[in-house]
Amino acid sequence: MTVTSRVGIVGAAGRMGMELVKVLRDTPGARLAAAIDRPDGASVGKDAGEVAGLPAIGVRIGADLAAVIGGLDVLIDFSTGAAVAATATVCGAAGVALLVGTTALDENARHQLDAAAGKIPLLISANTSLALNVLLNLVRQAARALPAGYDIEILEAHHRHKIDAPSGTALALGEAAAAGRGERLASPVGVTGATAGARQPGSIGFSVVRGGDVVGEHDVRFLGPGEQLRLSHVATDRAIFARGAVAAALWLVKRPAGRYQMADFIFKDQLDTE
Ligand code: NAD
Repeated sequence: MTVTSRVGIVGAAGRMGMELVKVLRDTPGARLAAAIDRPDGASVGKDAGEVAGLPAIGVRIGADLAAVIGGLDVLIDFSTGAAVAATATVCGAAGVALLVGTTALDENARHQLDAAAGKIPLLISANTSLALNVLLNLVRQAARALPAGYDIEILEAHHRHKIDAPSGTALALGEAAAAGRGERLASPVGVTGATAGARQPGSIGFSVVRGGDVVGEHDVRFLGPGEQLRLSHVATDRAIFARGAVAAALWLVKRPAGRYQMADFIFKDQLDTE
């Protein structure tokens, strides 16, 4: 017998929230059970399906997560960095699995997520696309294999509305490259060209483009003497993030408490992920 997981969304009226509503409608074994957005949002009280451009689905967008958390198996948060702390606290207290796709998490959110990870299965991913997560793995392998003197440049482009830069995904790619070298990514990261002077050999740099309606492009270049290795991912449809998030969230429901990554889900059938 197939068990249907009851899924909640925080940020349900946003660009990603609407994609999640659409994907959930088409996903066997899952149904939208709660939709939350900020209390002063224009969509509160409206049907989440209609807000997403679908026929009504009978779930109204609310503003009180604590009031609906008891009816959920898993929550997906694509809201703002400042909102995630409250989501983590409510999920931790209720024992409900949580997938966080929101980027630019603030200090308080990180703290509350750390606390929640001891009580619930928790997956935080700045990019829930399946192919992008395969790229993270490839970048780690390339950084491990190439000499440390190769410069690594991560170029990213996004639509003009994106607030944070470099993107959370670009930072994750930088962390994957650093991890491949057995290092941590220096923090805070700089944007290449922002300060004058020659490049530190082997450094990991970031280049940012903002404009138009670019969904998301990431290009990782390993620049050595006489050669370059380029690994790229291009997103053309925001639905890829929603599809990956929903698939991973359904997998997360059955996991024991602790922290998970998209790679744990994607490579779950492989004994050796390297
Ligand atoms: P958006 O601005 O369109 O949507 C955010 C939604 O969150 C809005 O509806 C807003 O009203 C709501 N919100 C704000 N404060 C809230 C609160 N306190 N409680 C509940 N809801 C609240 O943004 P978006 O493009 O949908 O992106 C949302 C987040 O997801 C961003 O952090 C973005 O960087 C990230 N993102 C992640 C991925 C991924 O693959 N992980 C992909 C795309 C975007």
